[in-house]
Amino acid sequence: MQSALIVHSRHTKCYAKLISKKYRDVRFLEVSGQPTEKVLDIKNNKDIVIGIGGGSAIDTAKIISKNKRCIAIPTTAAGASMTPYATVWGKEKITVPTKRPILKMDYDITKDLPLRVLQSTTFDALSHAIESFWSKNATSQSKGYSKKAIHLINKYFKNKDIDILITAGNLAGQAIAIAKTNVVHAASYALTIKYGISHGAACGMLLPHFVQYMDFKGLPELFNLNLTEELVVFLKKRFIPQKIKNLDIKLITRITMGYKKINGGPKKLNRKKLEIILKKLKG
Ligand SMILES: [Zn+2]
Repeated sequence: MQSALIVHSRHTKCYAKLISKKYRDVRFLEVSGQPTEKVLDIKNNKDIVIGIGGGSAIDTAKIISKNKRCIAIPTTAAGASMTPYATVWGKEKITVPTKRPILKMDYDITKDLPLRVLQSTTFDALSHAIESFWSKNATSQSKGYSKKAIHLINKYFKNKDIDILITAGNLAGQAIAIAKTNVVHAASYALTIKYGISHGAACGMLLPHFVQYMDFKGLPELFNLNLTEELVVFLKKRFIPQKIKNLDIKLITRITMGYKKINGGPKKLNRKKLEIILKKLKG
């Protein structure tokens, strides 16, 4: 029997207890919210690290595990099980290279996520799928993952089957592992750092506006729509609210511009254009 460290969220605590029976000397670590720099100092002396939950639990497990085995059991669509890096949030966003964990899908976990979390994780996955689809780094393989992910998210919008959403999130995670995210994520980091808005919620607020700006050929069709404007309405209807009170547009623009990824999409952006887009978020 192997010793284990199990990283879980409040929601996955019961499930963590359940699987702990398969291991010896189990240590539990409950995470609340996105990983901060403190995670970098956590020492692990267990044989295996298991992350159960959303992107925060899985990213934390990935960082702590270092060279040890890491298993990821996702309960959201963050796609963190598919990428060889994790995100740490502080005054700035830090990307920590990690090993890609071993994915384990467990369809028996009850995933009774609050509506707010569901909405955020759906829009994080959608941003991964859309940004990787229009990315300059896209390959036919990554585009295949993006398309499949969008297809499944559409299915999820109809049947609300969360297992389908998680599978979509994993596919979108594979797409960004190849093609990378770009401007939606860059701007979302600025909103998370400055306003403490969760990662998925920040993506949800921004996505319709960047979809409108990019007006990317072939994207509306993936949603069975004809026009970009229809897609913008479709997205806005499914993510509420999109406004931020007292939004400091100049500051958010400056931070967003600092991420090299802002021009990874199909249409060039500059400070002026970014300011016009971000103005739409002002509440
Ligand atoms: Zn994301």
